[in-house]
Amino acid sequence: MFSEFDLDKRLLKAIDKLGFEKPTPVQTETIPRAMDHKDLLVSSETGSGKTAAFLLPTLHQMLVKAAPESGSRMLILLPTRELARQVMTHFKQLAEFTHLKFALICGGETFKFQRAMFRKNPEVIIATPGRLLEHIEHGTPDFSELEFLVLDEADRMLDMGLSDDVLRIVSGCNTDRQTLLFSATLNHRGLTNMMAGMLREPETIRLNTVREQHQNIRQQIVVADDSLHKGRLTDWLLTNETFAKAMIFTNTRIQADKLGSYLRSKGQRMGVLHGDMEQDERNRIMQLLRQGIINVLVATDVAARGIDVKGVDLVINFDMARSGKEHVHRIGRTGRAGEEGLAICLINPQEWNLMSSIGRYLRIDFEQRTIESQLGKYKGPQKTKTSGKAAGSKKAKQKKKDKGVKVKTRLRDKKNIGKRRKPAVKVEDKPTPSGFAPLMKKK
Ligand code: AMP
Repeated sequence: MFSEFDLDKRLLKAIDKLGFEKPTPVQTETIPRAMDHKDLLVSSETGSGKTAAFLLPTLHQMLVKAAPESGSRMLILLPTRELARQVMTHFKQLAEFTHLKFALICGGETFKFQRAMFRKNPEVIIATPGRLLEHIEHGTPDFSELEFLVLDEADRMLDMGLSDDVLRIVSGCNTDRQTLLFSATLNHRGLTNMMAGMLREPETIRLNTVREQHQNIRQQIVVADDSLHKGRLTDWLLTNETFAKAMIFTNTRIQADKLGSYLRSKGQRMGVLHGDMEQDERNRIMQLLRQGIINVLVATDVAARGIDVKGVDLVINFDMARSGKEHVHRIGRTGRAGEEGLAICLINPQEWNLMSSIGRYLRIDFEQRTIESQLGKYKGPQKTKTSGKAAGSKKAKQKKKDKGVKVKTRLRDKKNIGKRRKPAVKVEDKPTPSGFAPLMKKK
């Protein structure tokens, strides 16, 4: 129960209004420690409730402590605009009954307007590193009295090459602050470097690993010949599956646009989201999806990073994700906060091995599903036989020759035609009565 955390009653009222009945595991672990003013290093995924896990204890402390004379009290850094907007939405919900104000500082919005927001001295700054640095270069923000620094999706910021920007921003922040760092994985190579000197004796909170997560999501694969076949399969799935909202992932922007046009021509209520689009257009598409005017979103990974849309219960990986981590992020769009979800990967011959290795790494037993009306030529890898009856055995070769099938002869075999074969294992003693030679030579 949230009431056990001794949170300010204005926050409890907001939690009540949101209908959160009990804290998620990351909230149970993080909130009491963060309220104790400890620096924390937390491994947790998008969808686990981590935003409230850092907002609730920090907002609580801001409400019970007197504000400094000027300057911002909390800075939340995030890798993408979408994620920043999402945190802003959650902030507005949780801080609804308080006086706390925020400014959203990320690219794609007017610089002048953002500068004016800083002048209003909001307590909380929610920002992406690039745009915030531009403001810092203009001398606008004042983080000398900062009380809380949150780095969300730190591994992603590293992957996106933002670590130098983050370090420059942090170097201008009050050193006497509380720092909370969230990352999907704590084993990221660059994380230790980035953290050095940033956190003070941090406590580590390791929630279940990627392998244990998302057990409430059914994961299926459907094999496909090529992109055209995948397009038909996608249309079939969207037409025949029962779902509220679906997200479809492609690996490239071009593919997202192509698939978008195809699905639109098939009458699907869908939109496309990728990094080449103007911010206004991205916001408009997200709004349409949230309002349910469209129910399908075709997106690339970067654009979809951290997007939290209620009611997404179907994820289709049109292209297989390039890594296990990316796969987890994608399927994390469904099955949020314990709901059931379905994730389907469309696998062409080139993607089979990648899918198998991701499955092994995450210990996922992908169910192979066939859609009878949409069968293609590819059925998955052919099974290779390794016994004496294998295709390459003498008997099999003879059979093939008899049938008039051309049989390949290895060069090594050709060269040895007519020569006596040496025994495979050189043994000096005679075979034992049982027919086996002893392995050790007798002295
Ligand atoms: P996050 O991991 O912060 O992106 O949160 C994922 C979703 O879970 C958001 O839609 C939150 O509103 C929701 N959520 C967060 N905490 C809880 C909770 N304790 N109970 C139910 N839903 C929650």
